[in-house]
Amino acid sequence: MTTSERGAKVVLVDIEGTTTSISFVHDVLFPYAKENVEKFLRESWERDDTKQIVQDLQQVHQFTDYKDTLNTTPANVDVGLISGFVRYLIDQDLKVTPMKTLQGLIWAQGYANGELKGHVYEDVPAAFQAWCAAGLRIAVYSSGSVAAQKLIFGNSIAGNLQPYLSDYFDTHVGHKQEKQSYENIANILTEKPEQIVFLTDIPGEAAAARSAGLQAIILQRPGNAALTDDQKCSFDLITDFKPLQSLKLPENKHVA
Ligand SMILES: [Mg+2]
Repeated sequence: MTTSERGAKVVLVDIEGTTTSISFVHDVLFPYAKENVEKFLRESWERDDTKQIVQDLQQVHQFTDYKDTLNTTPANVDVGLISGFVRYLIDQDLKVTPMKTLQGLIWAQGYANGELKGHVYEDVPAAFQAWCAAGLRIAVYSSGSVAAQKLIFGNSIAGNLQPYLSDYFDTHVGHKQEKQSYENIANILTEKPEQIVFLTDIPGEAAAARSAGLQAIILQRPGNAALTDDQKCSFDLITDFKPLQSLKLPENKHVA
């Protein structure tokens, strides 16, 4: 079955585990932020945006091992202390907003100076090209911020892929395992839900998308979590974008 037979007008792609290896985030982006946080803070310590982040970080220490160390007057807070706190938050996977904001700034600098390149699987650029040539719109939906999404695709190992992408969604539109989020996306895209094909590695996301009327296909990339037999029976599965690029989609198992 082809995308045109499916009546698809938009391909909505997840990032981690779909266009990009899960290990890129854990093995490249997080270590990069940890390695560069001290240098970044030292260079930007007097900047207003950094001052605000440091102030916000001091508000989130209560429930951490840093509750006593950071419970001090602002004058005693220095680059070393805040850097250690940020590395700790990353290690503990405590996704507090000021830490995410700071990580975003560190990554933006890394992409800008060429030290970071966004990982995409090698079949992704060709599929993007084929879908655009076929008149499909391509949109992104990821729990990473829209700013981070644009950095990954704008500075990818395959060059700037942003020209292929028409829309970006993060959790401001809703959480990825909630039906309402996909209804919101369809509304914003002004397309019928059934004309949107969502590609993801997470069955819970695929199920939420499908309950909103979207078509959903699950990626089985290397390193993705294994699926149960039930999940394998319930969803269309692909190991890369090549079957979609040649417009031969697997048979649709669940047409509403
Ligand atoms: Mg994913």
